Amino acid sequence: MICLFGGTFDPVHLGHLHAAERVLENLPVAEIRLLLSARPSHKASTGASVQDRWAMLSAACAERPGLVADNREARRNKPSYTVDTLLEFRAEHPKEALTWVIGSDAYALLPSWYRWEAVLELANLVVLARPGPFPTLDPTMSAVTAQHRVADLRGCHKGGILLLEDAMEEVSAAEIRERIAAGATVSHLLPAVVANYISTHHLYGG
Ligand code: ATP
Repeated sequence: MICLFGGTFDPVHLGHLHAAERVLENLPVAEIRLLLSARPSHKASTGASVQDRWAMLSAACAERPGLVADNREARRNKPSYTVDTLLEFRAEHPKEALTWVIGSDAYALLPSWYRWEAVLELANLVVLARPGPFPTLDPTMSAVTAQHRVADLRGCHKGGILLLEDAMEEVSAAEIRERIAAGATVSHLLPAVVANYISTHHLYGG
């Protein structure tokens, strides 16, 4: 199984990294690839450049066993669509199961993704949930969840949805950017290597 966790990582934070480590504990995989979404189609702009986000993501993953930073979407000269990335992995590894990891907030908005139904035809999903109530799902996503939810992804090649409870901590990149701009401390929310990079390069208006 190939396990992929995509994001803007603007910046990568301990919420992402701890969640990725939870996935490693719960799935039959030795590594999880954190894919940098260079030009996210659903965000107007990013706080840091693709070069800086990549430098932070690759440094954070380098010191954590099992976490692999991947910049294939950044090398593509067009918007980052998950379906294109999955098609690329499918072509390279025709026999391997693919699993895409997303936070529950992103999951609730899945129907807004380009060719979202094709995503489930290509891959399983692992949905990272916060402690407490799950985000409200619209009728489409409620039906998708009821139809595809599984208790275990073993033997599941595609289309299985596994909810991983309590995998999300209350950390968001938006909050980190706001805190930096306001001069508040963020070192408890980031790996030291990322906190140092942000302060050395004066990112996010700090
Ligand atoms: P922003 O606040 O800028 O929207 P974000 O961290 O939510 O940032 P991304 O970097 O694009 O945005 O997130 C990548 C993936 O990580 C998404 O699937 C998102 O749902 C998930 N994610 C975000 N925060 C956490 C967290 N605290 N724990 C686990 N997963 C998270």
